[in-house]
Amino acid sequence: KSGFVSIIGRPNVGKSTLMNKLIGEKIAIMSDKPQTTRNRIQSIYTSEDCQIIFIDTPGMHKPKHKLGEYMINTAKETLREVDVVLFVVDESKDIGPGDQFIMEQLREIKTPIILVMNKIDLMNPEQFKNLYEQFKDQNIFADIIGISALENANLNALVEKIKDFL
Ligand code: GDP
Ligand code: MG
Repeated sequence: KSGFVSIIGRPNVGKSTLMNKLIGEKIAIMSDKPQTTRNRIQSIYTSEDCQIIFIDTPGMHKPKHKLGEYMINTAKETLREVDVVLFVVDESKDIGPGDQFIMEQLREIKTPIILVMNKIDLMNPEQFKNLYEQFKDQNIFADIIGISALENANLNALVEKIKDFL
């Protein structure tokens, strides 16, 4: 199996950490520098039976940029062209305005979106369940998974979920 995946989410939710854990720091070719080229390959995950090509999505990270609207539209085009979108969020009591903004954009996209609830190591089960239900009620996610990128928790399960859509 092989396919294209984009990881999006607010700053500091753990996108880079997740990518590095999945790819292994050695062969990661990603960078956090601003990019203007569309559909730039960020890094490639390979295992015996699967290859996942991560595509950078500049623009979704900085919705308040001066070129905001143009960037967001470009980002949306990228999200339409990949096979799976990973929308990464982190711990909080309720869904915040940053995540609300991104979800508004995601509603217009038919690509399957996996909600990745990162930093479960910082959440108690009740907090996780409460946040999980709030995101589930949005009705935009093909799947939802809790992980800890930092502690390597549930990352294999995430890869399996990605494969389901390739
Ligand atoms: P990005 O801006 O989305 O790329 O976020 P980073 O990957 O740079 O992570 C931002 C911060 O969150 C860093 O200090 C990470 O160490 C931390 N972080 C990432 N994943 C986890 C996690 O699963 N648990 C905890 N506790 N911290 C995390
Ligand atoms: Mg980053």
